[in-house]
Amino acid sequence: MRIGVLALQGDFEAHRKAVGRAGGEARQVRTQAELDQADALIIPGGESTTMLKLLRAEGLYEKLAEFGRRKPLFGTCAGAILLAREVASPAQESLSLVDLEVERNAYGRQIDSRIVRLEPEAGSGLDGPVEAVFIRAPVIRAVGPGVRVLIRYQGDPVLVEQDRHLVATFHPELTEDARVHRIFLDKVAKAA
Ligand code: GLN
Repeated sequence: MRIGVLALQGDFEAHRKAVGRAGGEARQVRTQAELDQADALIIPGGESTTMLKLLRAEGLYEKLAEFGRRKPLFGTCAGAILLAREVASPAQESLSLVDLEVERNAYGRQIDSRIVRLEPEAGSGLDGPVEAVFIRAPVIRAVGPGVRVLIRYQGDPVLVEQDRHLVATFHPELTEDARVHRIFLDKVAKAA
């Protein structure tokens, strides 16, 4: 399983290490050739507007859209924004690979970053609470019928899956708990 981490901007190195903790191995992806080598890709947190510009500059935007129609993607925070069907506040172009409507920076200005312990939904396959780190996170305002919610915070979905794709609005790569990355590795194994 060749797992790539999009390494144009943001906290890609933390994801690479988290894949290691989950029992896999990941490589940085910066070019079309490197994307071609990958069986799955993680899109990290960072600044989604900047990431969009860099994807365009590298000629990776269309490539990534096409990659996601065949292979598993895991988007966290800014990565979730890039994967969504619709982005608000401000509106921005997105890959529309996961049936989500997101609102950027929507957890409020005063406390724009926080760490909370969340109890996963029954049947999520996650056993026991997950520590979720939010950093200027988007809120998932709506999910389509093909999306399954694994964890909620204040009623809003924060970890969801749609077929082979996984999306988190928090940062599982910033804690020692490897369970969320393991869910992704399982998806990659199934898709292979
Ligand atoms: N606020 C950022 C954005 O809108 C996302 C923040 C993050 O990825 N930690 O792109």
